[in-house]
Amino acid sequence: MRWREHPTQTALREFKEETGLQIKLHHVVACYSNTSKGFGSMSTLMLVFCAEVNGGDMRSSVEGHPFWIEESDLLEMVDFDYEYMLDDYREHRKQHDKGEFCGAIVREMAEKNL
Ligand SMILES: [Zn+2]
Repeated sequence: MRWREHPTQTALREFKEETGLQIKLHHVVACYSNTSKGFGSMSTLMLVFCAEVNGGDMRSSVEGHPFWIEESDLLEMVDFDYEYMLDDYREHRKQHDKGEFCGAIVREMAEKNL
């Protein structure tokens, strides 16, 4: 995050910078944190947003080469340590299938005209 940047602004900016695509954020899927184990590492806080692409053209950046992948192929590429995030996403998607989800971030973004 940049100084004085809202987490939703960070997500929009980073996605655009790293993929070339514009997105519309809907809501938070999950929040994860890791506490530093020592002086050589930082504590982290990660927000995972549910979003949809609404513009731009996918392109590479200094961060890497973005690409779409089938979910069935993703599990083979994901580090086992992060598999729980994929499980959380699957549970989130089930809520969508039932027509249920939390809209807290959508309301906050609308109030801030983001
Ligand atoms: Zn969602």
